[in-house]
Amino acid sequence: MSTPVHPETYYGPSFGALLEQDPQIAELLVTELDRQRAGLQLIASENQTSPAVLAALGSTLSNKYAEGYPDARYYGGCVEVDKVEKLALARATELFGADHANVQPHSGASANQAVYGAFASPGDTILAMSLDHGGHLTHGFKVSFSGKWFNAVHYGVDADTENIDYDQVEALAREHRPKIILAGGSAIPRLIDFARFRAIADEVGAIFWVDAAHFIGLVAGGVIPSPVPHADVVSFTTHKVLRGPRGGAIVCREEHAKKIDRAVFPMMQGGPLMHAVAAKAVNFAECMTPAYRSYAQQVLDNAAALAAGLDARGIRPITGGTDTHLSLHDLRGVGVSGRDAEARCDAAGIVLNKNAIPFDPAKPNIASGIRVGSPSVTTQGMGVPQMEVVADLIHRAVTQGDGDPEHAVAREVRAQVTELMTAHPAYPEPSAG
Ligand SMILES: *Cc1c(COP(=O)(O)O)cnc(C)c1O
Repeated sequence: MSTPVHPETYYGPSFGALLEQDPQIAELLVTELDRQRAGLQLIASENQTSPAVLAALGSTLSNKYAEGYPDARYYGGCVEVDKVEKLALARATELFGADHANVQPHSGASANQAVYGAFASPGDTILAMSLDHGGHLTHGFKVSFSGKWFNAVHYGVDADTENIDYDQVEALAREHRPKIILAGGSAIPRLIDFARFRAIADEVGAIFWVDAAHFIGLVAGGVIPSPVPHADVVSFTTHKVLRGPRGGAIVCREEHAKKIDRAVFPMMQGGPLMHAVAAKAVNFAECMTPAYRSYAQQVLDNAAALAAGLDARGIRPITGGTDTHLSLHDLRGVGVSGRDAEARCDAAGIVLNKNAIPFDPAKPNIASGIRVGSPSVTTQGMGVPQMEVVADLIHRAVTQGDGDPEHAVAREVRAQVTELMTAHPAYPEPSAG
């Protein structure tokens, strides 16, 4: 184990005890932190949460059973965790300007399961974005419960603009009269026209649900429009741009509050993870600070600069750019597959993922694109000048590497990655005194 970071800072004061009792796991915690600090983390759905959030996650709140909701639990001894959950709920409704919040979903997928549970029955029709155009597995994809239990109809993007085809959404809604219309996804670089979706949902009498898992952090930071005033219900994850603990949450209109709460518990989940609920509360408070607002703006600026930098090097951004924290790039211009690009970047210390692009001629496990995001590098304090360097490093690794970490280009790029990571460390060692 060689790490310059004080483990106590990131694993809590009990790290010494863990090291003694279970060195195998203790060492893996450290080597994973080393990995996060060594490579350029460009996976759009990842971020680096704060030591305060990590402290709440590592707390004895994990011991407490608290099935139910504050002041209405199935177990005794909930007086302290009730206060925790009330704080989390108050902060969530304030942060998002929502009537009602539920902070118990264990993950984004669990939150989505609850929304289905609240508003649909098996066999009902739902209308959502197709996975291969940027949607999500839980939006009615065949291998997911959502595709097995519901009749999912999918819209996609327009072939010319590569942006959501709203006319298609409208036409499919009129034809299929879905119970739920769902907006959101995991590879959508542009803002979504929530008002247009709302109008379509109203016309056909559907529930309008926004899965804001990816971009809710930008909403929290006030740098992109919020879906909350338009949607019946908004589900999201707390660990992406938002930068909280791994988990999920839901906000909704008052008229749906009881339905949503009953769908989370007891319909879909058992006892809540109270340590995660506490960590969500810590994160929501962080999101209300000026520092978080400037972070969110920097995430946008960095994503735009990175997309433009890759574009200038022949790696074209889908839709021509981005309004969010992520961009999706078509690699056909440089003649490299998504799978090879991912492997070549990995060999050079750059962590990103291959991604299907709309109308992709390649199979999903090969793909013609990559997805890059700015949340992690922005947390590390990188700015627009560094994104120019990052674009150059990605281009070199993708076009000149071969996937072998010992290749000269991989070594060169890795050395520059190390320079960037040294100047802008993830989880810097706390300065003495
Ligand atoms: C990440 C994501 C999810 C799932 O979140 P998990 O916490 O991984 O279950 C759901 N929907 C969208 C749009 C996502 O991007």
